Amino acid sequence: MEHHLAVSAERADYLLELSNVVRQTSIGPRGPRSLRRLGLVLRALMDLTGDPDVSVYLVADTSLLGGQREFGDPAEVRRLRGWVAGGLVEEVDDADERILDLARMTGTRVVTGDQYVDHRLQHPWIQGNTWQFLRPEARPDGSVTVVPMDMGVRTEAEISHRMELSALKKQGLLGPSRTPLTEVIMRAWRCPEPRCGLYDLHRGERVLLPRMRRGAPTCELHGVPLADEGPRPAAAQLKVVIGGACVARYTLDEGSEANVGRFPGPAGIALHGLLSPEVAGRVSRRHVAVCARGGTVLVRDVSSYGTRMRGAGRRGVPGRWETLPPGTDRPFRPGDEVELTPGVVLTRSGRRFPAELADAWRTVAAPTAPVPAAAEAPTRRA
Ligand SMILES: [Zn+2]
Repeated sequence: MEHHLAVSAERADYLLELSNVVRQTSIGPRGPRSLRRLGLVLRALMDLTGDPDVSVYLVADTSLLGGQREFGDPAEVRRLRGWVAGGLVEEVDDADERILDLARMTGTRVVTGDQYVDHRLQHPWIQGNTWQFLRPEARPDGSVTVVPMDMGVRTEAEISHRMELSALKKQGLLGPSRTPLTEVIMRAWRCPEPRCGLYDLHRGERVLLPRMRRGAPTCELHGVPLADEGPRPAAAQLKVVIGGACVARYTLDEGSEANVGRFPGPAGIALHGLLSPEVAGRVSRRHVAVCARGGTVLVRDVSSYGTRMRGAGRRGVPGRWETLPPGTDRPFRPGDEVELTPGVVLTRSGRRFPAELADAWRTVAAPTAPVPAAAEAPTRRA
């Protein structure tokens, strides 16, 4: 295989995410990790290009060799070590980032099964791409073929959801059954180092999630266990979107409730100044009530005209509009849209509440939630 391995990305015909291919259990031999899968993919690339000398540049996560017991054959681990030492594999902390940077800079095609949903804000060029990413697939005879993936267009809500989940994974905040460690995520933490503000919720928007080390939440910078500061206060951000443009943002703190409407009263979100008289006539004085309670956000129709709502949907297609049952609380999640009247929409933006993060993960991980074919990476990262 070695003569197919390029020592620089510029000279390679393809970039290949080795961690992903080695762990793609749908091709090649049984077992969680196998280097023979790379051999099968190289054969597929030779078939595809008609070039017996086709070359690939390999990028791997450091965790690939870290999980050496998952390789059935110890000789494969030794061979892989040799490749890393010889510069035939670039070993990095985050192979996704590196592969995408190289792909963007060089325009080289990438062999992977990953859809990179959580990288699409940083790499918007992935959206709608139908040619640059190739996915290995098993043929009925056991050989492998590589097929171009339609990367599709994902909504902002889907992308930020996936970013949150991968942030949890990176910090070691997913438990053995791959559910988030809510007891850690739902609490506020403080570094005992007096001048360290990395976890200070009052400091600004970006607060780090604690990193789990030896079972304890630990400061990223100082490596010391963090002090528990009690339940994490939460706040949700609401956006008012009129005619497709965001015209106002409001923050809703945990435990509070706000009425939204034309003239909702002192504690409410008043829209009269934002609407034309004609549109304002179709919005009630108090139209919906939004509250943040127990780590989730709820919306309730209190209008005389009715309110519609739709979910963020999947794969860039929003859900169907549904009329809200009057006077009933409904969960209002990031990406959901609440329509007071056509053209006047309330959305939630930004981060989820910790409780919603946990829910979102359960929804994704649940075996009862089927995933459309080819929507997800075939391999799960360790
Ligand atoms: Zn610290």
